[in-house]
Amino acid sequence: MDCPRCSVELSEIARENGALHRCADCGGLWVADVTDLNKILLHANLPALSSIPGFVNAEEMTGLCPACSVDLVVVENAEKRATESYDTCESCGGIWVDGDADEPAPEIDAKTAEGEIVTFFRRFAKKK
Ligand SMILES: [Zn+2]
Ligand SMILES: [Zn+2]
Repeated sequence: MDCPRCSVELSEIARENGALHRCADCGGLWVADVTDLNKILLHANLPALSSIPGFVNAEEMTGLCPACSVDLVVVENAEKRATESYDTCESCGGIWVDGDADEPAPEIDAKTAEGEIVTFFRRFAKKK
């Protein structure tokens, strides 16, 4: 599986329920299964992904799905000047969240990865 941004091989972060994949170059994270993502969100008192408003920006070009190599779709948050977005694959349902550190750590554990996902969706779901 390659990073949709930098085309380097993603590394696997082993977890009890389903692995996460991460790019050590950009710090982006790939969640292959939306059910798994929802568990992470609900655990952090966030709503499930389907209850977080987001708008597909079909004009925005992004990378290819690491799992099935089709074009990913950009989903932007409710803000007009969309500051937050994630990518999703309409074919397999996987979700890509960009890393936001300038120099991502080469390796992080599952808890840290889940924490980064929660931090992102907390920002994404926030209304001004
Ligand atoms: Zn990358
Ligand atoms: Zn896919």
